[in-house]
Amino acid sequence: MNRLPIAVLIAGSILSSGPAFAGAATDAAANAQLKESILTTTSAAAINARCEAVLALGEKAKAELEAMKGPATLAADFAAFDTLQLVLGDGGQEIYLVSQTSPVKEVREAAEACVPKISDLGTKVSLSRPIFDRLTAIPTRGLDARKAFTLQKMLTNYRLAGVDKDDATRAKVTALQKEITEIGLKFAANIRDDKGDIKLKPEDLTGLPQDYIDGHKPAADGFVHLTYDYPDVIPVFDFASKRETRRVVQLAYRNRGWPANETVLKSLLAKRYELAQTLGYADYATLITADKMIGNPQRAATFLDDVNAAAKPGADADMAELLTFAKTVDPSITRLESYDNSYMSNLLRKQKYAVDAAEVRQYFTYDKARTGIFQLMTDLFGAQFKPWNTPVWDKSVSAWELYDKSGKLVGRFYLDMHPREGKFNHAAQFGIRTGVEGRQVPVGALVTNFPATGPMDHGDVETFLHEFGHLIHALYSGHTEYGVQSMSNLQWDFIEAPSQLLEEWVWNYDTLKTFAANPQGQPIPEALVAKMNAGRRFGEATSWKGQLGYAAVSLNYYNRKPDFELSPMYDEQIARYSQFPPVPGSHPYASFGHLDGYSAVYYTYVWSKAIALDLFTAFQKAGIRDPKVAERYRQIVLEPGGSQDANVLIQNFLGRPLSLEAFKTELQKK
Ligand SMILES: [Zn+2]
Repeated sequence: MNRLPIAVLIAGSILSSGPAFAGAATDAAANAQLKESILTTTSAAAINARCEAVLALGEKAKAELEAMKGPATLAADFAAFDTLQLVLGDGGQEIYLVSQTSPVKEVREAAEACVPKISDLGTKVSLSRPIFDRLTAIPTRGLDARKAFTLQKMLTNYRLAGVDKDDATRAKVTALQKEITEIGLKFAANIRDDKGDIKLKPEDLTGLPQDYIDGHKPAADGFVHLTYDYPDVIPVFDFASKRETRRVVQLAYRNRGWPANETVLKSLLAKRYELAQTLGYADYATLITADKMIGNPQRAATFLDDVNAAAKPGADADMAELLTFAKTVDPSITRLESYDNSYMSNLLRKQKYAVDAAEVRQYFTYDKARTGIFQLMTDLFGAQFKPWNTPVWDKSVSAWELYDKSGKLVGRFYLDMHPREGKFNHAAQFGIRTGVEGRQVPVGALVTNFPATGPMDHGDVETFLHEFGHLIHALYSGHTEYGVQSMSNLQWDFIEAPSQLLEEWVWNYDTLKTFAANPQGQPIPEALVAKMNAGRRFGEATSWKGQLGYAAVSLNYYNRKPDFELSPMYDEQIARYSQFPPVPGSHPYASFGHLDGYSAVYYTYVWSKAIALDLFTAFQKAGIRDPKVAERYRQIVLEPGGSQDANVLIQNFLGRPLSLEAFKTELQKK
């Protein structure tokens, strides 16, 4: 899970405790006072004032909508509903981004304190019977398919939130949602605030690249001190030749947030179970899957077992080969542990496929990757990028505008890509303004933790492109008629597919040769890329089985009464799916942030990979850099955002329903 980026939904999931309301935008005309960006403020008072303004505008818009009289219409009632979503969604997601990125601690704290207040108001909106009644009364006759779908989806959200229940039940739901939001924030804060201080002797770093060793000199006490930031820990798993170094670092890393999050997570599970029961559902997994592509937890469980069966032969063969190999490197090894996987797989790839991760690394830097990704977007989608002259919250942050071929402004975005004290320590896309055609241009941000200078892992380039996929999806889909038709209302179990699809291009020589070059300026050799691709398949089935393990933890924590202990349940699910046993003494669920944001539906990563590979078949047929297929894809799949069912988007693009065959074939490939 450490390599798979959090999706775009983190903000949405916090704001939309009930219905998956659009992370939507403030209506520029109606809400001029929210137009000014507060992303760069250094004043906690300014955050508090903005928070109050969002809440006041939200309350006002809610009261006006509830008081509407006469026949309900799309033009009046639904538009007012959409504006309310924009006020709360955009107001909330901007403040949420500040809580994760402001260089000023007091500002982050003020923003963090505001998030549950806005979420709380969102819950009230999601439980407003008068609003539900107005929306229900809108005539559906004559609506086009997208409008009809959007209206129906909003009503489904309301029913899932319990709006048709009595007053006492609705009050209880409101209280539970508020508690759940607060517990979720605590869960995230405990992970984020656990910085880590892993003490190693300088000689423990044997095997790590020289640039890493140069950047990690011992302190006055004679020890090298590592934090839990990716650039500190990931290279250890990849390159540290001492097994004990890898074990110690992984054990520490997998105890982030623990023991603090043991009780926090238990109460999160308990409150969500209580919420599901209050709403008439057997458990939280049943509630949360009801509006997904997959439909119910049983289908999700069957899907996991299905993929597990397809992955098993390949994964077993990989493991046997890896163990035989590992014994030649370190004869004391009798069983492979998870902290051996990256290191031994790298060595094996280097030997068998002659792929050396350190050699590959020299062809990538952050700047080259960014240039290359922009170029790829130009080649595929005709995108043009120009610097956006706007204030930023840290000198390392850059700002950009994206135009289409005709010169139309598609959207704006920030890149906050390098580690910084107190900053969000994962990789994610954040919404700032949801685009609405003719009303406001979409704005987003990527927040990641890549090294600012020096070599960059190929896997990091892949993550960069993955997150960029979420960003362009948000921008291209930001031109619908209503904010609630944006990407954030697309089914969760589809939302990773476009990003996972894009990952394919960082394995394509014609794409890599446009930007990957070593410090001497020599482009990456075609033969090296061919070897990387040969080595790519090795360990792939194993890695997906690992993801199935995390998905099973997520599903099984939520598909029953939470009267079990967290650690044994975690270990049981990992043992059932993953090729590696749990590391004794580790408590990885305490830092498994998706257990809050994704709850039971972490399966979506595997599910949407299956979708991505199915979509990829259309590109493979035409040649993967064919701009005509890319343009069809942008128009048919990306631009509609959440205004259509994901099954329909897939059917429209492929000319047939979703099939899992491409994924199963990939898992069986050698
Ligand atoms: Zn993602």
